[in-house]
Amino acid sequence: MRKSLVAVALLGSALTLHAQNAPATDAAIRRIWSLGMDSSQAPRLAQVLLDSLGPRLLGSPDMRAAQDWVIQTLGSWGVEAKLENFGTWRGWRRGYSHIDLIAPRLRTLEGTMLGFSPGTKKKNKVAATIILPLFKDSIEFAQWLPNAKGKLVLVSAPIPSCRPMVDFQRMASPASFKRDSAQRALNQREWSARNVRGSGLSLALGGGEIAVRLEQAGAAGVISSRPTDSYGTYQVFETYTTKRPTIGLSCEDYGLVFRLTENNQHPKIRLNLDAKLLGEQPIANVVGRILGSTKPDEYVLLSAHFDSWDGGSGATDNGTGSAMMLEAIRLLKQVLPKPQRTILVGLWAGEEEGLVGSGAFAEDHAEVLKGLQAMFNQDNGTGLVTRVGAGGLTNGAVHLAAWLKQLPSELQSQIPFDGSPGRPSGGGTDDASFACHGVPVFGLGSMPWDYFNYTWHTNRDTYDKVVPENLKQNATLVAMLAYLASEDPAFVTRERVDLSTLPAGGPPGRPARAAGPPQTRTWPTCTPVPRVTKPRLK
Ligand SMILES: [Zn+2]
Repeated sequence: MRKSLVAVALLGSALTLHAQNAPATDAAIRRIWSLGMDSSQAPRLAQVLLDSLGPRLLGSPDMRAAQDWVIQTLGSWGVEAKLENFGTWRGWRRGYSHIDLIAPRLRTLEGTMLGFSPGTKKKNKVAATIILPLFKDSIEFAQWLPNAKGKLVLVSAPIPSCRPMVDFQRMASPASFKRDSAQRALNQREWSARNVRGSGLSLALGGGEIAVRLEQAGAAGVISSRPTDSYGTYQVFETYTTKRPTIGLSCEDYGLVFRLTENNQHPKIRLNLDAKLLGEQPIANVVGRILGSTKPDEYVLLSAHFDSWDGGSGATDNGTGSAMMLEAIRLLKQVLPKPQRTILVGLWAGEEEGLVGSGAFAEDHAEVLKGLQAMFNQDNGTGLVTRVGAGGLTNGAVHLAAWLKQLPSELQSQIPFDGSPGRPSGGGTDDASFACHGVPVFGLGSMPWDYFNYTWHTNRDTYDKVVPENLKQNATLVAMLAYLASEDPAFVTRERVDLSTLPAGGPPGRPARAAGPPQTRTWPTCTPVPRVTKPRLK
């Protein structure tokens, strides 16, 4: 660090210290700050949830067990809580995945079943591998299909190197960087998820149409791989095969099996997988409530999705958002046992399956939409919240500016807000289920902590990635915003910003969601929520 930077850093920390000692004027804000920062339960809640209960795939017994724990936890704080059933979804229990290369040498492979994959009934199944060839068209693919019988079919692009691209940028010669980039681009085209090797079928999330078609043709199973651009990290989604397993391998081990197959070194793989498809199961949101004293029909809603993919523990997606909202309502119950407006916490099911839980809640609760003062949603990882959006409502922006001004100065300075109404959320996370109804939605945007390379839907989304200090502070912030929204004398009205006047990129203040759809010039519309399993396949 250069000297001048050291001086700036010292000055910065002195200012922070001073700000922390300077009390906010409002007694409740001060109390939330001291409880939230000095005796936070957020890290403990996250540890129990992520380590002991684990991931929360929609329709799994693990999800239900974790929801039961939330209800019990809220009850122990004196917060009313219940499960609200809204439909059914295919159920599945994940057991173990033992995947071994047994020829030409022995190696236990790093990989796991995709969600909802059938197992092998705990029996050993040994099969040779085959690489999906490049086809002229879907007719040629159909003619080839008998070759898949009894084989484990490799359906993902081989990655020439499992080193992250940043290594190549820093250390490769320009020629090798160019060569590697070109090979990756070629692979991406050939093995496109929409049209795998010219088959005309999609790979979707690693187990799409092509996996089902290969199963029908008698393949022993399907092997896919979705590594991200960082060491040791791969994504685990779901499949629709029902008799033959679909597994995902790490970048390195997929590459190993691919090269052995490609070079006629005759790999054989032994699978021993335990899983059970459970048929359609009831699915539910968890909703907790502190009843409002003077305006019980107006609502402040703390929102996060509780379900996750299950390659890791669903830590930053979205265990941290869930723990944040739980801790926030615990703080509110202590500081504000009789709020003016009703405070709800909604921990949604099935965000990952298309925002189904939050969408169903919005459809089922017209009274909450009508009386909604504010919804605060967080779903982009463990980092400090540094952006709050007003969701495209002009009066929402006015209220938000007033609330932010009442926060302790260190929180204020962390969340610069230019007063702009921003845009409505168009998808990507649960605030979209409410934004389409035109109600006040305030998305909370966190510092990324390399979310999309490391933890988003990956095998590495585990408790250790949680940053406890950030989680504490975020929960404290949410409790303060909810308090200010609940006690605000004025109701947030619904005037919309004129989207046709905004630049295409959108104003600052909108929480960044790389997975979100492109920004449009028209207000998003609500679509009916599927209440039973809606396969993603055609
Ligand atoms: Zn999420």
